[in-house]
Amino acid sequence: MSYSYALRCRECAREYPLDPIFSCEFCFGPLEVAYDYEAIAANTTRESIEAGPPTLWRYANLLPCDVDYKVDIGTGFTPLIKADCLAEAVGLDTLWVKNDTVNPTWSFKDRVVSVAIARARQFGFEAMACASTGNLANSVAAHSAAAGMDCFVFIPDDLEQGKVVGSGIYDPTLVMIEGSYDDVNRLCTEIAANRPWAFVNINVRPYYAEGSRTIGFEIAEQLGWRAPDHIVSPMASGSLYTKIWKGLQEFHKIGLIEEPTTRMSGAQAEGCSPIATAYEAGTLNFVPQKPNTIARSLAIGNPADGYYALKTMEETGGAAAMVTDVEIVEGIKLLAKTEGIFAETAGGVTVAALRKLVASGKISRDEETVVVITGGGLKTIEAVADKVSAPLRIPARLEKFDAALAARDVAPVAVGV
Ligand SMILES: *Cc1c(COP(=O)(O)O)cnc(C)c1O
Ligand SMILES: [Zn+2]
Repeated sequence: MSYSYALRCRECAREYPLDPIFSCEFCFGPLEVAYDYEAIAANTTRESIEAGPPTLWRYANLLPCDVDYKVDIGTGFTPLIKADCLAEAVGLDTLWVKNDTVNPTWSFKDRVVSVAIARARQFGFEAMACASTGNLANSVAAHSAAAGMDCFVFIPDDLEQGKVVGSGIYDPTLVMIEGSYDDVNRLCTEIAANRPWAFVNINVRPYYAEGSRTIGFEIAEQLGWRAPDHIVSPMASGSLYTKIWKGLQEFHKIGLIEEPTTRMSGAQAEGCSPIATAYEAGTLNFVPQKPNTIARSLAIGNPADGYYALKTMEETGGAAAMVTDVEIVEGIKLLAKTEGIFAETAGGVTVAALRKLVASGKISRDEETVVVITGGGLKTIEAVADKVSAPLRIPARLEKFDAALAARDVAPVAVGV
């Protein structure tokens, strides 16, 4: 059972039944799920959540789908790690890493797909599909395989090997488009109008997007039922970023936490920074860009939720930062070296942006901060392959090892950035 009862236009507030639709017939605004928060509050306590499974399904009362339709491959309730070494490196007193690299397909996209596929099955769809920058394709393919559903995933043709193989292994129909993500998305919107498929980020997008709130829920629960002072999240379409904030507000609305005063900051790569550029220009209206960055998972030049992300930034007093490809690699290496977490390029963007925000005073030292790391590094190994310490290559003989170690101590062979 679900406490969602309608889709509501984010612009004109007209309500629609819970159907596989995504935009308002009157004003073309995006639709968002509406819930009966009184009923949720009456049926949800800290204790009832704590007694739930160690996955995002512990928040079932707050999800827009019936749990009977769930496809559970173990998504969510990922670790929140106290990051003292990274805190010191960037200049903060208290920092936490929300480590979403450990989801079943190694990115936070398993959250949105868990919700989308459950709702799609509830609607009676027999095939799943998506337009993806890579991680979404991996997750849709995996969940469809586990559900025994047909699957069609569409990706741009410049993705990393780890993301192409990371979809192909689940045996979907994998379509590579000659163009950018924005081209992929445009084509998929046309296909979605003609095929009876659940495109997770098109016709079932309102349900899909709700899955990202679970990061906000988890951060609050794992901090001991309270919100942090500051959160830094990566932004592609801007959906994740806005939904983390929505999750914190909802936890307050149903009486689980005090009113959050969290400042929400967002991270983008300089080579694809429509939201951060608009923030710097002091406007809520971004200008689309043609992406050119190693952070391919964030390479959305025309972000669907860019406007709402900028509104959230304004409302919460957060900021945006953009970082270069060189800084992205440094961010990946810094997180790995300080906390033992290997993130993909989006994680490098987020850590590098965190560092910039602290250095520029946008985050002050005494703000308790959570940095959201959304994907695992083995998927984007190209970005760092030639920028890590080279191994000592020796014959299997003790004296060769001793000699190699002595030689390294004289002249380190580490390859820098
Ligand atoms: C998709 C993605 C994001 C951002 O998602 P949006 O909701 O579109 O902003 C962040 N990190 C990773 C690793 C992703 O795959
Ligand atoms: Zn409307």
